[in-house]
Amino acid sequence: MVKATPSARRYLLHHRHRAEECGVAFSSFKGLRSPLRHEATVASCRSGEHAIWWLVDAASPEDALALLPFFVAERCTAVEVTEVRIP
Ligand SMILES: [Zn+2]
Repeated sequence: MVKATPSARRYLLHHRHRAEECGVAFSSFKGLRSPLRHEATVASCRSGEHAIWWLVDAASPEDALALLPFFVAERCTAVEVTEVRIP
């Protein structure tokens, strides 16, 4: 099994915003240079829960959150995760 570089860890980013902040959350990416831009991810905005998740590789939680604009990052948690195989 091929793994990412040893320094890279995997983080699940969990961002939440209120319904009235939805437009701000998405438009805050404009002008930001981030590898997450123009890539697909999953969100619950259309079902009314207003959360977005990303699975990213980064050296630290701070580096993972740095992939996001400030508005999104300050409403986001970064949890280190590893792949497991479910029996
Ligand atoms: Zn939303």
